[in-house]
Amino acid sequence: MPHGFERIVAHPERLAHSVELPGDTIVARLRLDGWHDVTVRVLHPFTWDAKFRGFRIDELAISPARPRTLVSGAYSVADAAALNHDAAHGTRTPFDFPEGEMHDGVLYRTVGHSPEAHERYHDAAGWCTVAGLDTDGRRVALATALNRSDCVLLDLMADDHGLTVQTRLPWQTFHPAELPATDSLPGLLVRHGLGDHETAEAWLRELLAATVPSRASVAPPPLIADTWGFGTDIDADRVTAFFDVAASLGVEVVTIDKGWEDHVGDWYAQSGYAGGVAGIAALAHDRGMRLGLWVGAGNASPESVVATAHPDWLATWNGRHQMVSHRNHSLCLGHEPARDHVLACLDRLVRDGVDWLLHDFETISRCDSAHHTHDPGAGEAAGVAGWYSVLAALREAHPDLLIENCWNGGKPLDLQMIAHHDTTIGDDWCRSEENRLAALGLGVYLPSSWTSKYMGDEPHLPLRAQLAPYLVGGPWILMGDLPGWPAEQLAEMQRAIAIYRAWRTTALDAHAVPPVLSSLHGAGSGSPVGLTSAGAAVPGAVAGVTGLALTPGPRGEQLATFAVSEAGVGQLVRWHPVLDASGAAGVETWIVRDEWSGTERDVARAELEAGIPLETASADGLALSVRPA
Ligand SMILES: [Zn+2]
Repeated sequence: MPHGFERIVAHPERLAHSVELPGDTIVARLRLDGWHDVTVRVLHPFTWDAKFRGFRIDELAISPARPRTLVSGAYSVADAAALNHDAAHGTRTPFDFPEGEMHDGVLYRTVGHSPEAHERYHDAAGWCTVAGLDTDGRRVALATALNRSDCVLLDLMADDHGLTVQTRLPWQTFHPAELPATDSLPGLLVRHGLGDHETAEAWLRELLAATVPSRASVAPPPLIADTWGFGTDIDADRVTAFFDVAASLGVEVVTIDKGWEDHVGDWYAQSGYAGGVAGIAALAHDRGMRLGLWVGAGNASPESVVATAHPDWLATWNGRHQMVSHRNHSLCLGHEPARDHVLACLDRLVRDGVDWLLHDFETISRCDSAHHTHDPGAGEAAGVAGWYSVLAALREAHPDLLIENCWNGGKPLDLQMIAHHDTTIGDDWCRSEENRLAALGLGVYLPSSWTSKYMGDEPHLPLRAQLAPYLVGGPWILMGDLPGWPAEQLAEMQRAIAIYRAWRTTALDAHAVPPVLSSLHGAGSGSPVGLTSAGAAVPGAVAGVTGLALTPGPRGEQLATFAVSEAGVGQLVRWHPVLDASGAAGVETWIVRDEWSGTERDVARAELEAGIPLETASADGLALSVRPA
């Protein structure tokens, strides 16, 4: 196993599932004797089911009285809500999908509420860190990672003598007629030893960097423009005008979001696009850009040819077709004919000139059909395997194709999902501050080059304040009304894009981090207060100033961007760069650069240690860098 992780699987005597007693299946178990005072850091990915919580990392205590269970997978908030509901009411609620004329399908929760800190079940990424003390009082840490994108429950159970970690497949989604052989059950990757949460996070960073497709270390994250600023209100004229402005800005990939297709599920361009998808590709390629297309590859609209000709290919759940994102059905990718159709459609798009595949909605469906090629009791697992087989086949046939995940806002997050995608979004609001928080959350685990940020128009913000988080990492995806941007905005965008390009990196050890800030009460007095650190909790604003930084590069160079809000105007805030990075040991003179103006000045190390004062005369965005002289 890579990077010190070992795979554990199926403690043999604990396979709980049987026909007589339908129940959960224990898949893996690890016992850590003597561990106590344990906490778990839980990464909650963005989901529309908990849209006001946003992307967040929580640290939760585990005690004998308070076991915790992390619920991963594509429907994790809805599943965790149902499990908490059952725990509170002593019920056994099947996982289900909401129904109703007003339901637009992007929400999956049918019972309960999104998880709260005091509850047992929490939606989570397919990895976590655990830290505590051993019998000798030493700090000990554990990192776990799942190689599954369907629903898996990770139990963390403390007793008076230690901690038990186990994975379960819940009865709601996994009750096969026959259990798979032990060695084909999904395992749990674990690494444990002396250390704390930060130690275990570093273990995960190594594992995840080794998991991302190798092309991530070859090409830097691109600059992308996407049409979603117009919603589905697009046509050939608007797309062409959008492409013209994107090309003038130096955009490298232009993606057409939902609205180009005739029907979800069939994947032909609407009749107004001359030459179909190949014609659209020519429009992009003629302007020096690659073409990306949005697809909901696992869905089919009720009016689509595929759904009307092959209703038997649709996923069924609890006896009916599910109505999911934008009122589309799901195709069952665990059913071979449906999977073949989806692969053929995507392959056709790529052969017509698509370079970048942006997929969304429900590619992992739940299906209990007795008429499909999968076991009806293991339909979700079959769907996961089917989806990843489609992506693997596409990659093999088209090695240059790039694949972006925006699964209903950026789920799931696990090793298998990481291995099959070139980037993921962390937030679906398309707003600056939400993207900053998502970049910080993803940045704990993933390279800065792997975390897309959608940028819609936010005219209520000063432009540079809005732009600040987008300059760090990438891909950066422009989503506004580009043809409607005034000339001065386009000029600012050109400068912002130059900063982004200068700092984007393929380095897999580069991460988005919170810049260390201090604020002083009154000029020249007192000691720093409100000092933030790169801890688990995503730091908020210090005196109305928020920031995002890149970890130092090989020579100690580093970028930090800041948004100064009205609350920050006039505050005395300093940025403390990292001065002891490996490539900068002993450097006495540094260059501080204002990336917006290009102004540079030499600064002695001693002065830099006191922090760089930020310009807070007005609400604005700042971009500063330091590098050894
Ligand atoms: Zn099926």
